[in-house]
Amino acid sequence: MKNIEVQKAILEKIREYNRIIIFRHLRPDGDAVGSTKGLQALLKLNFPEKEIYLQNSDYCDYMKFLGAEDEPIADELYSDALGIVIDTATVDRISNKKYELCRELVKIDHHIDIKPYGDISWVEEERSSSCEMIAKFYDSFKDELKIDGATARFIYTGMVTDSGRFRYRSVSGETLRLAGLMLEQGIDTDILYANLYLDEYNSLKFKSYVYKHMKMTENGVVHIFVDRKMQKKFGLTSEQASNVISYLDSIKGSLIWLAFIEGKKGDNAIRVRLRSRFITVNQIAERYHGGGHDCASGATVYSKREMAALLAEADRELGEYKKTKGGWL
Ligand code: AMP
Repeated sequence: MKNIEVQKAILEKIREYNRIIIFRHLRPDGDAVGSTKGLQALLKLNFPEKEIYLQNSDYCDYMKFLGAEDEPIADELYSDALGIVIDTATVDRISNKKYELCRELVKIDHHIDIKPYGDISWVEEERSSSCEMIAKFYDSFKDELKIDGATARFIYTGMVTDSGRFRYRSVSGETLRLAGLMLEQGIDTDILYANLYLDEYNSLKFKSYVYKHMKMTENGVVHIFVDRKMQKKFGLTSEQASNVISYLDSIKGSLIWLAFIEGKKGDNAIRVRLRSRFITVNQIAERYHGGGHDCASGATVYSKREMAALLAEADRELGEYKKTKGGWL
């Protein structure tokens, strides 16, 4: 089915149901939050007679400025509802397992469709964000649907965060056109960017600590191990600890950068966040219980030994890449 046909089918399903429940992935990011809140707001605006719920098990601190979320609803309400899952490649990553109770399920996502699911699935891997898809959904039916500034702000926020402020290669002319369409609804970008950029004093102290303790392999893989001691010293939430990956993204010659985040006491899983430019890292992530995008993936290792092995693989691949390719920075 063509993308526009799928969107039509989704709109038809939305019209058909009186209750719609929206889901996203665990440990949500700006795109997961923005796209789900954006679709919820869009549907509430256009279908005030319907019940539109956002039901997820977790939220993220840095998106709390987008406002509170719905309280959990009774299980009985799921059985005659349409579920819409956004920004979530596989069912195991859906943050609320009750999605299974919904009568029908729609998937909207921009990740690689490794394990398709849903009665209707709209996946466009080349889109820069799921928020871009929600903007597109509005754009496709703008003769029938209304939008307002509050809705556009949710959508625009995820477009901004998931595209690295419109910097990543996935950003197309259409991304910017759709972002423009959102901006036209009236978004206070000063407040938006203040929310995205202002940092706590303690978190800057942590950043300087990270720069002091990061390491670089022979071929230029920069990495940091955020152990429990470090997390305790700076009073970091697991989200703040995971965010360390973003500090390492602008180092010349380091085309791959990794953050290893130690779990809570008693949990031997070490979360790995892999990022890269020019070279792909998802094949490495897939070998360590993970996966993801070409240049942004996640994995899990269960020992220091496995951590060293992953690092050695990344170093080897980067060495090979540098030997055979030119033009990188
Ligand atoms: P993260 O560093 O955890 O934010 O992951 C980066 C990207 O990789 C995200 O877009 C995730 O969708 C994807 N990802 C993370 N962990 C996994 C996994 N275990 N399996 C498949 N994809 C993953």
